[in-house]
Amino acid sequence: MTTCKGMKSGKDIGAENEPSVAIPHETPNTSENTSIPIAELLLPKAITPSYYRLRLDPYLDDPASDGSNFTYKGHVSITIHCHNATNSVSFHAKGLEIGENINVTLSNETNTKTTVTSVLSSSTATTAPTFTAVYSNTTSDAANTTSGPTSASAAAARTTTPTAGPRHKREVSFRRHQRRRHVTSTTTTPVPHTTLPLGTPPRVTGRVHEQRKEMYTLSLEPALEAGQTYILDISFRGLLKDSLYGFYRSSYKAENGTKIWMAATQFEPTHAREAFPCFDEPAMKARFELSISRPADMVTLSNMPIRANESIAGRSDRVWDHYEVSPNMSTYLLAIVIANPDFIPIKDTGYLDTNSQNASSPEFRVYARKRLIDSAKYAMSVGPRILKFYGDFFSIHYPLPKMDLAAIPDFGSGAMENWGLVTYRESNLLYDPASSPMSDKDKVVIIVAHELAHQWFGNLVTMKWWSDLWLNEGFATYMQYVGSNHVEPSWEMQDKFLVYEQQPAMALDSLRSTHPVSSKVQNPSQISEVFDAISYSKGASLIRMLNNSLTEDVLRKGLTRYLNKWKYRNAEEGDLWEALTEEIREKAASSLPPNVTVKQVMDTWTLQGGYPVLTVTRDYSAGSAVLSQVRFTLDNSSADTLWYIPVSYVTQEEMNNAANSDRRTLPRIWLKQDDNKNWVLFNIDATGYYRVNYDTQNWRLLASYLLSSPPQDMLSASTRAQLLDDALNLARAGVLDYDVALNMTRYLATRENHYVPWKAVFDNMRFLNTMLRQTPAYGLFQDYMLKALATLKNNMGFEPTPNETQPQTLLRPNVLAWLSRMGDPAVVTWAKDLFQQWTNSSSPDTENPIRVDVRRVVYCTAVRSGGRAEWNFLLQRYLAAEDRPSEAEVLLSSLVCTHQEWLLITLLEKSLETGGDIRLQDAIIVWDEISSNAVGSRVAFNYIRNNWSTIYDKFGKDEFLMADILHGSISGLTTERDSKDAKEFYETNKGKFSFAELKMEQELEELTLRVDWHHKNYNTVASWLQKYHDQ
Ligand SMILES: [Zn+2]
Repeated sequence: MTTCKGMKSGKDIGAENEPSVAIPHETPNTSENTSIPIAELLLPKAITPSYYRLRLDPYLDDPASDGSNFTYKGHVSITIHCHNATNSVSFHAKGLEIGENINVTLSNETNTKTTVTSVLSSSTATTAPTFTAVYSNTTSDAANTTSGPTSASAAAARTTTPTAGPRHKREVSFRRHQRRRHVTSTTTTPVPHTTLPLGTPPRVTGRVHEQRKEMYTLSLEPALEAGQTYILDISFRGLLKDSLYGFYRSSYKAENGTKIWMAATQFEPTHAREAFPCFDEPAMKARFELSISRPADMVTLSNMPIRANESIAGRSDRVWDHYEVSPNMSTYLLAIVIANPDFIPIKDTGYLDTNSQNASSPEFRVYARKRLIDSAKYAMSVGPRILKFYGDFFSIHYPLPKMDLAAIPDFGSGAMENWGLVTYRESNLLYDPASSPMSDKDKVVIIVAHELAHQWFGNLVTMKWWSDLWLNEGFATYMQYVGSNHVEPSWEMQDKFLVYEQQPAMALDSLRSTHPVSSKVQNPSQISEVFDAISYSKGASLIRMLNNSLTEDVLRKGLTRYLNKWKYRNAEEGDLWEALTEEIREKAASSLPPNVTVKQVMDTWTLQGGYPVLTVTRDYSAGSAVLSQVRFTLDNSSADTLWYIPVSYVTQEEMNNAANSDRRTLPRIWLKQDDNKNWVLFNIDATGYYRVNYDTQNWRLLASYLLSSPPQDMLSASTRAQLLDDALNLARAGVLDYDVALNMTRYLATRENHYVPWKAVFDNMRFLNTMLRQTPAYGLFQDYMLKALATLKNNMGFEPTPNETQPQTLLRPNVLAWLSRMGDPAVVTWAKDLFQQWTNSSSPDTENPIRVDVRRVVYCTAVRSGGRAEWNFLLQRYLAAEDRPSEAEVLLSSLVCTHQEWLLITLLEKSLETGGDIRLQDAIIVWDEISSNAVGSRVAFNYIRNNWSTIYDKFGKDEFLMADILHGSISGLTTERDSKDAKEFYETNKGKFSFAELKMEQELEELTLRVDWHHKNYNTVASWLQKYHDQ
């Protein structure tokens, strides 16, 4: 899954955006069960499922549906295996109406791995098919089964055999024939049915619905026998919900303005149980055979291709879509989309390499509603190439016969990697050159690469439990740069890693309230809490560190070894370390310390929270340096945590020697005696997940080198980004003098024109902006930033140049946004004039004179310096931007720039309305932006303080949005008074934060740090700014 905020880093919102970290969006459980220990919420392991025969019969807004709009009926037959005799069976279900008759019958299957026979009851000729299954254990199966394996189509045909009379239930059993393509490692050899009585059939003698545990438990008599296979049959009904997870409804407007409904799913992490009864834990993998009924004129999509359609006798208006059987997979990866026929694919087979075996090239499609389908071209052009690249990279081909990417109009997270059917927020998949900025294109390729990487990490091999979520998300996040770099080699994706992932992860990880990458998930609310920057971005940074310390070859081959060993199964962190250790052993060469294993090294990084700062203290007269490590925290408190740190370094002399091009492999050289004119630099390219602090002299040498090095010997862009981020954060934590850190930024004014270092600067300056914006020093800060940006402004201008690089295109809107925020008169006038031109247009929704890449800064400037008229004009454009999702996001985030309190409150209210002007999925945009507005912060905090009970009643149960709302309301506050108010708010509402409890703690910790910062650093920073100003 991709969380939306995790991707914000690519947006061109410059100064308008506070540093953001990935925030959980998919949230599993109601507040009622947050206090239940996880051990009690796990299903007993005496029973495991292997096969689901699932039938769903959903109704959207069908006028003939007899009042069953937005509901569905379902039936599931689950093949389960009994490992230890037991007289109870537990399964997950939440918010479903479970039918009276639950049956457990002995299956006549004997081999659990190789049989896929299932029994289903097909009902016909009824308005709403009845799903009650009728089973007879001993004789009827055989009677209804034709002999021998049959073709899939024949099997399908058999299920369509008309039967006499309405509501007639008949028994049909069919044997799944070996499919056209092998999709799993298990074979599908048909096993002959037998009629042998295998013991007395179990009877359900009682059932308990434990709502808090989201579980049903059946009592059975006699007990299930160890070693036997049974079929569990359950009928149920559910709602197509108006939330953004489970099985939910979404809508969009047709060209004529009518509302068109569709349905989609979001099951990760624990929402499959809200759609159908199941064993909803990632390690309980099974194969899924799905049938969905639909109106004859609609379409359905799922993980696998459709095997057959079946018309329903007497119901010309409805059809069954029967899907091929999935490989062995976790419940959270199942996906369904039901849509109008105008939800269409673009398809391209041009990517198929005619010289290779086409059998391994899946069909690749990108789906969107028809009005937007042209903007699916970019994803279609990069997706298949990335998929193929990964297959080669891991030496394991993508195993499914097709890959669909689908843009869903209402979508909670950024995207979801469902196997064979990846679902996306529209703005994360669709790129329209006419209405999407370059930052969106950047985001699309990254997210496409992320979700496709999951097809291996996550789908093929899955973590055993959510505590190892980082294995999925860390790898997908790491690979998203490798994959996108493959298709966009000039976009400097590898350098962007540092500012999009590592530095944001370090920001969150420098709090006391951070958590280890491999975190103990001890209660259900923590399942959703681990979907944060620590799992995603720190996880990815650790993989990158491994890649650079073990070598790329060892990592890649070790990964292939790991994937091959665990495919279609579940693995833990230790299994990965083992595969890497085996790879190193085979190579007989290790870059690890002697007698130390990968596990020993990595345990220090994954089992402990936080990260170290490496302190380098040089003895200039002896020509040596002393290294020491200590945990880095923003409150600079002591801790005895230690890490295995891969230390790399380069000296100035070494770097300037052209012969030393491959510096990493060089033997380390001695520093020269009395060498107080040359710097040393540790952690080359920031490949290690740690910060470096130096003695003041070495910092000075680095600062002056940045100012005056020969152009050809300039430190690399990622090194510049690293030095700036390290220095400013070390100063913020009080371990480096602010004077020294700020001096590192002085070269910016004359020499920095690269996106990556500027991104690091902007992220750090946002903090200073927040800290200073209500102090007398703010004018000095503005002057400093204006000076720092002046040369760049002149060089870049307002318009793109023909040959500029993609990172330069990304940089311009950021620079203009900062100039506008800092009050640059030329930029403010430019923006207001352009906006004025636009408002003069007679058809502003189709004619916009403002270039796409700078719309955000133009809109925001106009709204910030304007009043009600500008705001209303923009709101109208937002309401009319239904078919331009990227533009809609830009418009909505610009509405937050107003300084009029009543307009901000209006916007906050709208963001929390169901079915109102703002889609629920976009509420995050409003709350995410508001903290960067000096007025907005306090407005938002007052708003939640006055309305928390209402917000909690509405969203607390779903837990969607809670973390964003808290972040938006608190992260812009800075004063002692604010801190007191926020703590009081926390105490008053304790127990009403559900899964956002950890987020709330982090927000309070950061607020305390901001208050302390003011006491400790304000005067130093203000006088540095004054001194620089007077120079
Ligand atoms: Zn993911």
